[in-house]
Amino acid sequence: MIKYMLKCAHAHEFETWFGHSRDFDDQAARGLIACPYCENTKIEKAPMAPSVRTSNKTTNPHEDMVAKMRKNIADNFDNVGEGFADEARAIHYGDAPERSIYGQTTPEQARELSEEGIDALPLPDILAPRTKRKLN
Ligand SMILES: [Zn+2]
Repeated sequence: MIKYMLKCAHAHEFETWFGHSRDFDDQAARGLIACPYCENTKIEKAPMAPSVRTSNKTTNPHEDMVAKMRKNIADNFDNVGEGFADEARAIHYGDAPERSIYGQTTPEQARELSEEGIDALPLPDILAPRTKRKLN
């Protein structure tokens, strides 16, 4: 597994794991990688930022940002858990109210969604809200 720091056309930076270095080139070329902030698919590798030592050891801006984003997702996205593929499809075809959802897919489900032209962006584990799955 290789971790890349990626950057979208709007200069949002985010980290994504890939199985092989060639996976990034392949997925980026096919527009399969979307910015988690703005869903832009013009993604390129960002230079790794050198770590900056600050005198203030009590706050970590990166962790603050992650916590904020995680809360934003928890507040604004519906957790549909393992039903993600079905729900994304239902929303795409107008069978379910349009809204932002997150959940789990198998790699196979993710591929099927992509083949049907349904946008689903990988959510880095670190941003997945630590909430219990909603039982319907
Ligand atoms: Zn972006």
